[in-house]
Amino acid sequence: MTPAAPPPVSPPPVSPSPIAPPAIVRRDLIRLNASPADKAAAIREAAQMLVAAGLIAPAYAGSMERREAVANTFLGAGVAIPHGMVEDRGMVRGNGVAILQIRDGVTWNDGQTARLVVAIAATSDAHIGILRRLTRLLQDEDRLARLMVTDQPGDILRALTDDAGAAGGSGMPAGDLPRSFTWTVDYPTGLHARPAASWADTARRFAGPIRVRHGTETADAKNMIPLLQLGLRAGDEITVSADGADADRALERMRAVMTRISAEEQTAARRAAERAAAPTTGWTPPADDRSPVIAGLAASPGLAIGRVHLLATGPLTVPDRPVPLIEGGDILHDALQLTREQLKVLADDTARRLGAAEAGIFQAQAGLLDDADLVTLTCQLMVEGHGVAWSWHEAVERQASALARLDNPVLAARAADLRDVGRRVLLRIDPSLKAGGADDLPDEPCILIAPDLSPSDTAGLDTGRVIGLATAQGGPTSHTAILARTLGLPAMVAGGGSLLDLEPGTRVILDGQAGRLYPDPSDAAIASATAWAAEQQAQRLRDAEQRGLPARTRDGHTVEIGANVNRPDQVAMALDQGAEAVGLMRTEFLFLERSRTPDEDEQYAYYRDMAAALDGRTLIVRALDIGGDKQVAHLGLPHEDNPFLGVRGARLLLRRPDLLEPQLRALYRAAADGARLSIMFPMITSLGEVLELRRIAEGIRTELGAPEVPLGIMVEVPSTAIQADIFAPHVDFFSIGTNDLTQYGLAIDRQHPDLAAEADSLHPAVLRLIAMTVDGARKSGRWVGVCGGIAGDPFGAALLVGLGVEELSMTPRDIPAVKARLRQLDHVALQRLAAEALAAGTAADVRALEGRLS
Ligand code: PEP
Ligand code: MG
Repeated sequence: MTPAAPPPVSPPPVSPSPIAPPAIVRRDLIRLNASPADKAAAIREAAQMLVAAGLIAPAYAGSMERREAVANTFLGAGVAIPHGMVEDRGMVRGNGVAILQIRDGVTWNDGQTARLVVAIAATSDAHIGILRRLTRLLQDEDRLARLMVTDQPGDILRALTDDAGAAGGSGMPAGDLPRSFTWTVDYPTGLHARPAASWADTARRFAGPIRVRHGTETADAKNMIPLLQLGLRAGDEITVSADGADADRALERMRAVMTRISAEEQTAARRAAERAAAPTTGWTPPADDRSPVIAGLAASPGLAIGRVHLLATGPLTVPDRPVPLIEGGDILHDALQLTREQLKVLADDTARRLGAAEAGIFQAQAGLLDDADLVTLTCQLMVEGHGVAWSWHEAVERQASALARLDNPVLAARAADLRDVGRRVLLRIDPSLKAGGADDLPDEPCILIAPDLSPSDTAGLDTGRVIGLATAQGGPTSHTAILARTLGLPAMVAGGGSLLDLEPGTRVILDGQAGRLYPDPSDAAIASATAWAAEQQAQRLRDAEQRGLPARTRDGHTVEIGANVNRPDQVAMALDQGAEAVGLMRTEFLFLERSRTPDEDEQYAYYRDMAAALDGRTLIVRALDIGGDKQVAHLGLPHEDNPFLGVRGARLLLRRPDLLEPQLRALYRAAADGARLSIMFPMITSLGEVLELRRIAEGIRTELGAPEVPLGIMVEVPSTAIQADIFAPHVDFFSIGTNDLTQYGLAIDRQHPDLAAEADSLHPAVLRLIAMTVDGARKSGRWVGVCGGIAGDPFGAALLVGLGVEELSMTPRDIPAVKARLRQLDHVALQRLAAEALAAGTAADVRALEGRLS
């Protein structure tokens, strides 16, 4: 490896303009080791210092005491900031502060001990500068602790005048620090929150000040918001400068981080462009149409035309409920801390699921929480007597609007980031606000935009009000996407951050089949999309006419068609679509939809209702499949670094009899009542698991005196497909979960947006695993079904039937098209086609065979 070239650090500029310490903090107004008898004495002592310095009239001391009666001036962490009443400002003669260090502390209020009393005299807004520094100090507990005991007034002076990181971009002079380098921004979408967070993060590792200047605007590099306020776009030239003993190293690191991010940003932009240019099978806008497009991944077909609603970004009214300052400070502190933890979990989880670059979204959001200006402004508003939620919201709104006002798309996007993280904190401060949740929808049907949606969020969507959804993250085989298909909602996932930058209310066309979203479409585009949707609808109607007929090929081969539904109230709709059975009931949604584990009785009632809704038709209930992307917080399962390869599905069931046994008891009780059900175990990876699960099931059955029910297994991992002949004598049926079989067979995380296009269940290797399962099952006369997503794709379904699959279970809305397709084909031809598919080299070769079907 070649060692990295040293950065071109320039000699000191001709006229560096370091920041002069504000005159309001003076060494002669710092008194160390003071020992006032009580709070009143402390205020008087500090006031006398201010009087002696000519900064206040003697009567202002009384005003300071009066203030204490109406407001709490304890800022937190041992710091109090006594100051006078607003109406007594006339008694202030100059700007300054008097600082008492009280090592033994003095009780300020019940439970609050002040060790640093900063009495403020301010004619104007000058005290805001001090507050900024103080609130910044509050976040640096170690440094603050040292100030409480130091015998060097200089330490306190420096802490309150040190501008590194304390000043915002707007207030900072334009001068460069002595060491510097210039750099041209080459991030295609400019400096947005994620890289800005990395810059600030890097800068904060160094003690000396670091600045970034663009033209006459200078920002403190340690602070993300001023950095964003520079509004840097691709091509902008900036100067990064530093001072202090470690200036050279700081600049070297800054440059390394800035250029490393260039590569990442350019790759991301290229991928987005490639996706936008890729051919699509959905609607295509008129050829001469120049409407912008946001490209994501197709998750659920259909076109939706409507206005967007950004989840968690709608307007919000936050009541102003003042609380004592100390309480407010604690609430704010806890909310920030909890949000940081939440973002850390999200970032870890996202890094694992989607990759480090995507996780950066949450790291960047966490970076916004470290912003001193934001916290300072909140504290100031609280000190002025406002409630903590109101103050936080106001501070976020002021900062975000300042960013949005600059008429720069890059900054407008950052405003969205800030508001998003602001809401997280707000909900921690006051959970009753329910800011912008999915239950906070506009009256008009809308297209929902969200960073991501959990399966239970998606499951709970009101389809009367949401006509489509698009998420910035997520993958097309995620449960969210599956649920969107179940709900019949056009959906796109992995649309990237630009989705979240859309103004609420923007009119868009969402094409869930192509995975595209067109903001502000032209009239011509809307007309064409409307016509296309009408044609699709007509086709659906033609298919629907036959949906009640069996899926019998022209040469008389019949395939059973089941629906994947989880709730009794969805059964009628599934039957209406032409379902003949329920081929997959995912019971984990019983657990995901509530905040506690449903007990045996509840589950029994649920399974019984489900079977009743099916009125004698087959019901295949899958035992709990928790793990992977289906995490249930209330189960308190240990964190796993790689949950898709961890204790998931059958592995969890065997380790948690408290989950498995009540579920089996509930199922057998329903069977004893006459429910016609089969039990299916998920994520089977070894024969030992099957034997053990059968043994437990049989024990419970005999104990309850229930009838035998078919016991089947999911084929979701290659080992099980390969050993199907070994499993077959011990199971009654197989159902192939192609979503997971594709994930594990091709080693592609099913939620990975960058790899989603490659995670094609029609990959010949996946088809071979399916063929092996069918062969293995036949040896013992067992039937094989498929309940993964590909069963609902008309061409995929045809190939599966050619491979010998006897049952297909899918989201109900896919049923009419699949049935219609199979009814047009010959089984013999499909067998030939399947043989060709097995011999194909790539998924694209397999898909190309579709043209050969008549
Ligand atoms: C599958 O993996 O294809 C399947 C049906 O199970 P799930 O999607 O619930 O993991
Ligand atoms: Mg699965």
